[in-house]
Amino acid sequence: MKVLFISDLHLKAERPDITRAFLHFLSETAADADALYLLGDIFEAWIGDDAQEPQFNPLFNALKSLSERGCRLYFQHGNRDFLVGNQFLTKIGATLLEEKQRIDLPIGSALVMHGDQLCTDDKDYQQFRALVRSPNWQQAFLAKPINERLAIAQQLRATSQQLATEKSNEIMDVNPLAVSTVLREEKIELLIHGHTHRPAIHYNQRSNEHGTRVVLGDWDTKLWYLECNDNGLLLVDEPI
Ligand code: MN
Repeated sequence: MKVLFISDLHLKAERPDITRAFLHFLSETAADADALYLLGDIFEAWIGDDAQEPQFNPLFNALKSLSERGCRLYFQHGNRDFLVGNQFLTKIGATLLEEKQRIDLPIGSALVMHGDQLCTDDKDYQQFRALVRSPNWQQAFLAKPINERLAIAQQLRATSQQLATEKSNEIMDVNPLAVSTVLREEKIELLIHGHTHRPAIHYNQRSNEHGTRVVLGDWDTKLWYLECNDNGLLLVDEPI
């Protein structure tokens, strides 16, 4: 049994090298995987399933053929691609996960999240998140013409980058209490998330000797993935 987890590829037109690395990952590393979990921010931006960028077509085809060959594909929303919808997911053969999803692995149960929900010290962001995740906001946004949606998305990104430069490192990381609380509430020993771009395996996150937290890495000069097999967990990085 081989289960793979990735997040934070931030695929965009200006980085064709990352799209190529992902295609390579799908045809090599994921070729014999039983499941592949895409845990958010796979795309740098997503303004609706009806506004896809043609340069990603080879990638969409590769994901579709992977799922058709029997690899189960799962997608969880990140803070950038939270508008990925069922129309697109059906096209590639992926299943949408809840924002906090319990899954079964060869080594036991785990909880997967994108991770932005755990950054509770970032009050501005949590407020923004509540707005853009509301069905009303999303319906109104998706009803706008594509060029208008693009303009709004660019403006939102510029604001969030501006705010991020003014925040300390601690604020941008997960809150330890938010982590231990979710582990305790879900009665779970393993949490897998991305978002913070701080790849690592942390222990004792629930209490002493309880609770492991795996943080996936972002794809930039290196790619990162987590492999879970019958022997355990392996956090892997490779040059792009
Ligand atoms: Mn993120």
